[in-house]
Amino acid sequence: MNEPLLDVRNLRTYFYLSEGIVKAVDGVSFTVNKDEVFCLVGETGCGKSVTALSIMRLVPYPGKIVGGSILYEGTDLLKLSEEEMRLIRGREIAMIFQNPMRSLNPVFTIGYQVAEAPMVHFNLPSQDAWNKAVDLIGKVKIPDPEVRAKNYPHVLSGGMRQRSMIAMMISCEPKLLIADEPTTSVDVTVQAQLMDLLLDIKRKQKMSIILITHNFGLVAETGDRAAVMYSGKIVEIGTVKEIFKEPLHPYTQGLLQCLPISFERKKELNFIPGTLPSPINPPKGCRFHPRCSHATEKCKVEEPPLIELKKGHFVACHLYGG
Ligand code: SF4
Repeated sequence: MNEPLLDVRNLRTYFYLSEGIVKAVDGVSFTVNKDEVFCLVGETGCGKSVTALSIMRLVPYPGKIVGGSILYEGTDLLKLSEEEMRLIRGREIAMIFQNPMRSLNPVFTIGYQVAEAPMVHFNLPSQDAWNKAVDLIGKVKIPDPEVRAKNYPHVLSGGMRQRSMIAMMISCEPKLLIADEPTTSVDVTVQAQLMDLLLDIKRKQKMSIILITHNFGLVAETGDRAAVMYSGKIVEIGTVKEIFKEPLHPYTQGLLQCLPISFERKKELNFIPGTLPSPINPPKGCRFHPRCSHATEKCKVEEPPLIELKKGHFVACHLYGG
């Protein structure tokens, strides 16, 4: 279970804007093991999606990966040529986005788009690739796959588009699937079906999933381990059980107390004062200090390192470790 597949070390991805430098991802480190669901969780704008795009090496301009390493099965993805990286994308690591229209091409049928990757990566003849596409469209539980394969994305419902995108992304049986808020564009009943589908595929194909979400409920239901991000940094990593039962970082504690159905039901529903800091000019020291009720003078000047407090449970906070 604990065999590493992906090892991200001190990743830094910055955006160079005319107003200044946005350090969207600023020294992020984590490991994803084989056959696990690893959740990256935090508020919108905390850097989780940019972390995912960095792993895929798809950071849009004016963003740039300025440091760190991303070891995939021991190979640093940041050292690969663009051509070598194209072979990794889709075949080894695939990504599904919140908005399926970002990945689906409106001018090609669903069947063609699902068939394309096996044709490119495995040189499958077009008829074989088409048959595989129809099979995959059935596997993601779209009814009448032979008929639907001939449809264009705009005639499908939101849920079917998301299923089509999942079919596209699993067509080469990647070892790692990055799912960026995969269920936010569909309604609640479809959300549960899509997550069940993803977990079912994960079990059958023995792949790992990085689930990017702001939804702690989804983390509780599906994750094995989770990293909590705040303002471009990871503030806590642990098993999902540890994060829910013994959250260490004041930000994690605050987020959990904001949940409408808190695991601490008897406690009053809480909220975290203030808002996410400016990404161009974040606070010095601990970036959470302006919102933290435990903040001391040290917190305002010294950045807390991420330390392993208990085996596998990491936290970046001066309340721990002196
Ligand atoms: Fe709060 Fe200080 Fe810990 Fe930051 S380092 S979370 S400000 S106690």
